[in-house]
Amino acid sequence: MSDEMRTFGYLCPACKQTVMGTRSVFALEASNAEVECACGKSALRADFDGERYRLAVPCGLCGETHEAVCQPDQVLHGATALACPKTRQFCCFIGPEGTVEKHLRELAILAEKEQQQAEQEGEEAFLDNVIMYEVLSELKEIAARPGGVTCACGSSRYGVEIRRSSVDLICRDCGAKLRIPAATDSDLDDLCCHWKLVIPGKRA
Ligand SMILES: [Zn+2]
Ligand SMILES: [Zn+2]
Ligand SMILES: [Zn+2]
Repeated sequence: MSDEMRTFGYLCPACKQTVMGTRSVFALEASNAEVECACGKSALRADFDGERYRLAVPCGLCGETHEAVCQPDQVLHGATALACPKTRQFCCFIGPEGTVEKHLRELAILAEKEQQQAEQEGEEAFLDNVIMYEVLSELKEIAARPGGVTCACGSSRYGVEIRRSSVDLICRDCGAKLRIPAATDSDLDDLCCHWKLVIPGKRA
């Protein structure tokens, strides 16, 4: 029986892909195990101290890493699911490969639904939806002009972060930030006066 295989599965919080790793019972009793996501940004760890397993589970639902203590029986036999204490949903599965794979698929669908819901709530979270919409479309127009958005550091690579009542343009090279208020009519008027926008980075 020592060559029985056990599969660990979780959802990577970084890339949102399902991650599975299989180890033999023999290996799990002999040493610590680590199952890493292909993206390299998360890994599940199972440390055995001779009595119990201490698991560190990256959680694809809330983004944190959860610690759990399991009896050897839970890890080495049957099927076990560990719940995320924040969302109260299962975020990690241990058991036969087929069972883990099935639960992981359901978890991925659940996480996607919650993500969509969060995005919808996000849209409603703007201080003024109309102003935000207008500011974003004005920004799009400015950005479409040659050299429309640049940084004082010389870069023209930037990211956009949309907040509740403002939009941040962030230089990808020096990290400088230009905050564009998006709460009132006058914010919109101010933005429309600009033919170009310059992020206040350090001059090259
Ligand atoms: Zn990943
Ligand atoms: Zn969680
Ligand atoms: Zn810059």
